[in-house]
Amino acid sequence: MNKVIVVISGPSGAGKSTLIKYLIDEFDDAGLTVSHTTRLRRKTEKDGIDYHFVSKDIFEDMIKNDEFIEYVQCFDNYYGTTHISVYSVLNQTNICILDLNYEGAYKLLSKSLFETRCVGILVLPPSLKTLRARLQGRNSETPQSLNKRIEESFLVRRIAPYNHVIINKDLDISKYLINNIIQQYIT
Ligand code: 5GP
Repeated sequence: MNKVIVVISGPSGAGKSTLIKYLIDEFDDAGLTVSHTTRLRRKTEKDGIDYHFVSKDIFEDMIKNDEFIEYVQCFDNYYGTTHISVYSVLNQTNICILDLNYEGAYKLLSKSLFETRCVGILVLPPSLKTLRARLQGRNSETPQSLNKRIEESFLVRRIAPYNHVIINKDLDISKYLINNIIQQYIT
């Protein structure tokens, strides 16, 4: 079986996390990298599982020590993926999934940083109205942070580096599509 690095992006509320969870459940040999962030931990999140939650000082030290394969400043916080997090998933699994924003995905997909094949998938909501309703339904955002997330979704114009785009209108169809995409790369 071939190894593949799968970079998945999409605006918050597009259904990206649901599709990532589906892939992890569906493929025994798929793993998700754990990013570092300076964002506050949400009640439902666990340190070391959802993210490594660190202070701004620690994050900036890690930048100086060249620990990140890529990092960005997004929604007033840092988010980054360490070299170690990618290689530890790649050592244990064949499908290494990274959940990155557009900027991070662009950095990774536009350069050949890995010997392993790297594929980009962009997950989009069917409309901005749906996106807003999904985000409001989560109850995790303030009106300000919700608006920032909606604004970020306009960056969907930047689809150039991705190999595949899924418009997530019907979750079962999206699961079928993403499964087929992954199968193409591992067989
Ligand atoms: P959230 O705050 O909702 O967990 O994540 C906000 C955004 O940060 C999402 O678009 C997510 O894909 C992105 N993100 C999470 N971890 C990383 C990372 O390590 N690098 C980059 N570039 N983006 C990340």
